[in-house]
Amino acid sequence: MYEELDSILCARYPIIFPVDSSVGRRLFGFECGDGWFTLIDAACELIQHDIKINGTQQFVASQVKEKFGGLRFYYRQGSGYAATVVDLAEFLSPHVCELCGALGKAVSLFGWEQTRCPAHENATVYEEPLLTTLGHNLLLVPPMGELLGAALVLFEFDAQATAGWLTQPVRALAHAIPWSLAGSIDGQRQILTLIGRLEHGITP
Ligand SMILES: [Zn+2]
Repeated sequence: MYEELDSILCARYPIIFPVDSSVGRRLFGFECGDGWFTLIDAACELIQHDIKINGTQQFVASQVKEKFGGLRFYYRQGSGYAATVVDLAEFLSPHVCELCGALGKAVSLFGWEQTRCPAHENATVYEEPLLTTLGHNLLLVPPMGELLGAALVLFEFDAQATAGWLTQPVRALAHAIPWSLAGSIDGQRQILTLIGRLEHGITP
């Protein structure tokens, strides 16, 4: 991951990504592409918030990497909620381009399974760090913690069902795929409004 994004995650979530005080450095780097930055950021936002508000068990990341086209987030300790949030990020990752964060799918690159959007189907390295295909700066994509947290509640903390809903066309969103709308504040608002209606049993 691009060093600037790496540093941002460690600075935002110091209790999840601890620093080795003897050498003044954190214990690991993120071994995946920039496109999963928003996914990792959202998961950490929810977990750190839960620890602070509910005093749940501390959660310490030990390794974050790509494997077989999916995100693998290894950790020590943590609550059941944290485990569910990590599951959600991992279930979402095979649908999110590892290079740019747009909606993607599994492709085979040099015999390895990777997750890519159509624009990066053959790309191993993203030439323009931080910029998505839509011209969005990854740093400017609004945080997705609130959205992912609300979707998890809607699906009663079933991470797989939540990830499925976020990555398939939804009739009430004019058949748009929630993840493809989630990169903008307006899109997130639309999805959150729909989640609110569904929570209250209002058929859209
Ligand atoms: Zn891409």
